[in-house]
Amino acid sequence: MKEKLTRIRERIAKAAKDCGRDPRSVHLVAVSKTMPAEKVKEAIEAGVDILGENYIQEARDKISKLSDHTVSWHFIGHLQSNKAKYAVKLFDVIHSVDSVKLVREIDKQAKKNDKVQKILLQVNIAGEDQKSGVKPVEIPNLLKEISERENVSVIGMMTMPPFFDDPEKARPFFRQLREMRDMLQQKFLSQLDPSVSLDELSMGMSGDFEAAIEEGATLVRVGTAIFGERK
Ligand SMILES: *Cc1c(COP(=O)(O)O)cnc(C)c1O
Repeated sequence: MKEKLTRIRERIAKAAKDCGRDPRSVHLVAVSKTMPAEKVKEAIEAGVDILGENYIQEARDKISKLSDHTVSWHFIGHLQSNKAKYAVKLFDVIHSVDSVKLVREIDKQAKKNDKVQKILLQVNIAGEDQKSGVKPVEIPNLLKEISERENVSVIGMMTMPPFFDDPEKARPFFRQLREMRDMLQQKFLSQLDPSVSLDELSMGMSGDFEAAIEEGATLVRVGTAIFGERK
């Protein structure tokens, strides 16, 4: 595990340097879904400090088993509004916010927990029917909604492009998300509360994180390349 992580960190640093970025601007989210707590502990001891989980119940058990470790937990799976209360209690960042209804529920739960919940907007950049995420045209409306809520703070956007074997095929979707972000920063953010930020771009997984970094990713979500195949 330690060697795998070292290798991934080297690849992250190289991808960043190759396109003139500071390697410290890219953070590794180790995606530990389906992996037992012992394995996650091994990753933490090898230096992982951000973990990504997809399922609330599974994450709840793991987070409580690993509560001695000071790591940051990120929720990256699909979130139903009725599970928002658990997500808010457990996670530092929620990557998968994609509706006004969910924003309102997270805000309500965060208020109860006396917390400002950090979130990312999940964007369905390729417009695939079956995928979660907001369509690009819906982003301004959602950002406006968030900017009016005291206990939700948006820090960026996340996307999952269609699956390809070739990372070069995913690259245009990563680029589109970054261009969308740049456009919103230039044309729209000044109309909103200054707490609204789109600095973070969560994109890239085991098969394509280098392309994502070259296109501007600040959070790469890597599972298989760290933990091996999921059963
Ligand atoms: C599982 C998952 C990942 C990690 O995928 P790998 O190909 O195993 O690196 C990243 N992001 C999301 C949203 C996931 O569900």
